[in-house]
Amino acid sequence: MNEQETYSFETLLLHNRQKVDRVTGAVSVPIQHASTFHQFQIDQFGKYDYSRSLNPTREALEEVIADLEEGTRGFAFSSGMAAISTAFLLLSQGEHVILSEDVYGGTYRVVTQILSRYGIEYTFVDMTDLSAVRNAIQPNTKVFYVETPSNPLLKVTDIKAISQMAKEIDALTFVDNTFLTPALQKPLTLGADVVLHSATKFLSGHSDVVAGLAVVKDEILAEKLAFLQNSFGAVLGVQDAWLVLRGLKTLHVRLEQSIKSAKKIASFLEDQPLVKKVYYPGLKNHPQYALQAEQAKGPGAVLSFEFINEQVLRSFLSKVQIPVFAVSLGAVESILSYPAKMSHAAMPQNEREKRGISNNLLRLSVGLENSDDLIHDFSAALNEIRYDDEKIYVKQGGKK
Ligand SMILES: *Cc1c(COP(=O)(O)O)cnc(C)c1O
Repeated sequence: MNEQETYSFETLLLHNRQKVDRVTGAVSVPIQHASTFHQFQIDQFGKYDYSRSLNPTREALEEVIADLEEGTRGFAFSSGMAAISTAFLLLSQGEHVILSEDVYGGTYRVVTQILSRYGIEYTFVDMTDLSAVRNAIQPNTKVFYVETPSNPLLKVTDIKAISQMAKEIDALTFVDNTFLTPALQKPLTLGADVVLHSATKFLSGHSDVVAGLAVVKDEILAEKLAFLQNSFGAVLGVQDAWLVLRGLKTLHVRLEQSIKSAKKIASFLEDQPLVKKVYYPGLKNHPQYALQAEQAKGPGAVLSFEFINEQVLRSFLSKVQIPVFAVSLGAVESILSYPAKMSHAAMPQNEREKRGISNNLLRLSVGLENSDDLIHDFSAALNEIRYDDEKIYVKQGGKK
């Protein structure tokens, strides 16, 4: 039976090619620590020879993610940035890449400070504006790099439209699918060529592993990426591959629960006078609400919100109790991040502000806590912050 064709996504998370170990029947993928493999013949080596090239545990994860993204081949890397950087090695000197303007800070850093030294040119555009994307095309444009929803402003890019534009000029489309995962969005089915993940986030889901993944459909591209993965060597270790495999089994239930809470929290925040704006593609007033609903099964569990000023943000952070204040997202515990000082610290302040990533912006990744507890926590923090006539916020310790 071809399981991929008959099972729904939720079932496929559990009943896939790695359901049982064929040798022992083990229901959890065995961790194969060997770095090298004995060869039984001089002239013909076995499938596995050296673990940088191929390792059974890493291969299990690579097969699972390939199936979940409806690709033909997956690749596991030592971090999301290792996956992204290795994919960029598909480019050659003198070629040009067009990127979403508010990409992950690390991606911005690799492109502007490293690839640029190797003669790879770049243009950042607001990818929600398709004519701006078209205007950015140069004769040497070879890659469109899409992050949707983007980080941290949750702008939604039309993957189909960008992929089509890329095909017209024989360029590739890369999509960073970290925020939604294949549970909600499958870029390869919308025409993208390379799907990238920080598996550190929702895919593993427990803030206990750093990992990256790439998936492709085209076999020639798969060969090229396999060559780069082995050559560059930033492969995922076996313990970490196992942790991602374990996390994946609960991906669907974790996301479903977190999205429910994220929707409630986004609505709550919208009604708060100290909050100037809420960015969440699950809100009907989000500019790309319809597009998001069309190309993905859900809006995800990450939202951002802007306070009326930085002082309020600082007071809020000092008062909230439940979320962790940390870098990262996509975990069982809710995580509040300060993009200006965390994910986007690698971006100069003027570049950040051009993109609307102000010092008043917080990003929230909603976890699995009871949503009423989270709302109560936020509400209590906001109530403590008073706005006086001189427009200065003062902490009054709950007193009137
Ligand atoms: C975290 C993140 C990355 C980088 O992944 P690492 O695993 O931290 O290297 C890339 N893209 C997005 C959208 C991310 O959130």
